[in-house]
Amino acid sequence: MNRCWHCFFLVLAGLFFWSWGFHAHRQINRLAVFTLPPEMIGFYKANISYLTEAAVNADRRRFAVVDEAPRHYIDIDHFGDSAIFTMPRYWKEAVEKYGEDTLKAYGVLPWHLNVMYYRLRDAFLVKDPTRILSLSADLGHYLADAHVPLHTTENYNGQLTGQEGIHAFWESRLPELFSGEYDFFVGKASYLDNPQLAAWKIIEETHALLPKVLEVERDLTKNFGERKYSFETRGRQTVKVYSQEFSKAYHEALEGMVEQQMKASIKAIGDFWYTAWVDAGQPDLKSLIKYKPTEEELVQRRKELEEWKEQRLRVREHEEEI
Ligand SMILES: [Zn+2]
Repeated sequence: MNRCWHCFFLVLAGLFFWSWGFHAHRQINRLAVFTLPPEMIGFYKANISYLTEAAVNADRRRFAVVDEAPRHYIDIDHFGDSAIFTMPRYWKEAVEKYGEDTLKAYGVLPWHLNVMYYRLRDAFLVKDPTRILSLSADLGHYLADAHVPLHTTENYNGQLTGQEGIHAFWESRLPELFSGEYDFFVGKASYLDNPQLAAWKIIEETHALLPKVLEVERDLTKNFGERKYSFETRGRQTVKVYSQEFSKAYHEALEGMVEQQMKASIKAIGDFWYTAWVDAGQPDLKSLIKYKPTEEELVQRRKELEEWKEQRLRVREHEEEI
């Protein structure tokens, strides 16, 4: 019976808390607003409730939208021990090397961050407030996922090393218990010269934390024995959870890793939002706080954007010929 409870809980955890807990995602998106420069912060603050709530939309879509799930992770170790350094940084080259189906099977997170950056830049160019907000919220979600070490491995739930359940434990239970004590000051957003390479740098740094995430849990499990788990009442359900004592010991042994990763997520989100806005020519966002463009206006602006892109492409082709 005990074992079944355990399995039941883990299955539930797997279904519902499959990336930073909802609470952490909301907190991360909300705090990213405060990294923005004066020209941006007014618009983002005016919409902070939406950005906070919509922080989890990308996870809600996972079961409804084909291709959504692989955007939240990359099982980089599937491609070999040094794949974190050898994997092509740009999508086109990665597809040439491995094929689209394989990449989608093992996750596309770092490349999708770049796709999202371009979409957000375009939304700024078109000055479409609704789209700026929904893309900002989604980009925030994916960037936060990119800071979770277990989102960068095939052993995403410790299932290959007898540590099932560690995924939700690290990214949901720990922030739920301890994030109240964190200091979230991260300073101001900075400009990224190359968002695609910046995305990969995040994945590299996150993946480097993976051995510690697993080793510390394995060592503590040996010492804790039966005391590793306890039971908690949630509504009318009794669920088996990692005990407070074990959670505290694990959290301490990680030496601030969860806090550091939440903070890095907040900073990265600010950086990506800010860069997309700068690269769109720093459009005036104050005017978008109260005014919503009509659908006709947006259609016209999107058309202009497409024409501008085509023109640029032609110029580039022409230059290459020379
Ligand atoms: Zn996610």
